[in-house]
Amino acid sequence: MGEREVSGVWPHGARSAVMLTFDVDAETVWLNGNSSYPDSEDWLGSVSLGHYGPRRAVPRLLNLLAKEGVRGTFFVPGYVVERYPDAIAEIVRAGHELGHHGYRHERFFDQTPEAQEAILLKSQHIFEDVLGYQAEGFRTPSGDFSRETPKLLQSLGFGYSSSMRGSDRPYRTVIDDAPSDFIEIPPRWELDDFVMFAYNLFPAEPRGQDRISAYTAGFDNYRREFDGYHRLGLCYVLMTHPQVIGKPGRVFHLQALIRHMKEALPEPGSQSGVWFATGSEVAAAWRLAHPREAAAHGR
Ligand SMILES: [Zn+2]
Repeated sequence: MGEREVSGVWPHGARSAVMLTFDVDAETVWLNGNSSYPDSEDWLGSVSLGHYGPRRAVPRLLNLLAKEGVRGTFFVPGYVVERYPDAIAEIVRAGHELGHHGYRHERFFDQTPEAQEAILLKSQHIFEDVLGYQAEGFRTPSGDFSRETPKLLQSLGFGYSSSMRGSDRPYRTVIDDAPSDFIEIPPRWELDDFVMFAYNLFPAEPRGQDRISAYTAGFDNYRREFDGYHRLGLCYVLMTHPQVIGKPGRVFHLQALIRHMKEALPEPGSQSGVWFATGSEVAAAWRLAHPREAAAHGR
């Protein structure tokens, strides 16, 4: 078609990459959202929205991914690993990737570098102690990190982040004025299920109320974005939350979306149209195809 913006990067001659991500926030987001109210932990109805993720939705999503033969990347706060060790261990046993997502879903942008480091180390230790696992990837909770965060992550051994919004393909993060080996794999709001479907009456989510989009419309958006990403050869990052996407009606829409991706046409002579990959695999493919020296010269 001659319109690809990225080519020669994805393995097996695939035209585009798909990274399916699941942020297992559980009750942390609701506890944080309630924190301006007295006795925030006692707002049991809103907190129970979060329980739905690890208790009901994660097993359902693991079944779906096994059935479709694709792997996902699950970003999990350390607090959730402590509270739901069996559910999170199942994710690892099924061969999916775990990524770091703070301890209690803290915002990083207004924390000192020392406080950020303490959170990163605390959750990495929980991953190691509870699961025997070391996270390579990071997704910033609640939307933003600070200018120091990428350098800090890299110094602690992380290889990539999936947090920023400024591209629709990965890139080498500039650290100390030079493109680094620390890869950013940006997700986008239009591919986020929380924006589309999350709802609570009080405390209000969304604040202005009136949301829970029509399922067909929401998934049609995801599908049309995929068609565009595939055509241009980009890296499609679906950003979902088990407590939101793992509902009985939505999980089958997700299955249909994955099947649509699998049917995407390959290039002549290649094995597959789409490369389904985890975050660390996408980061490695990007590093390989875009050497640092070339990136430093703007190529
Ligand atoms: Zn989150």
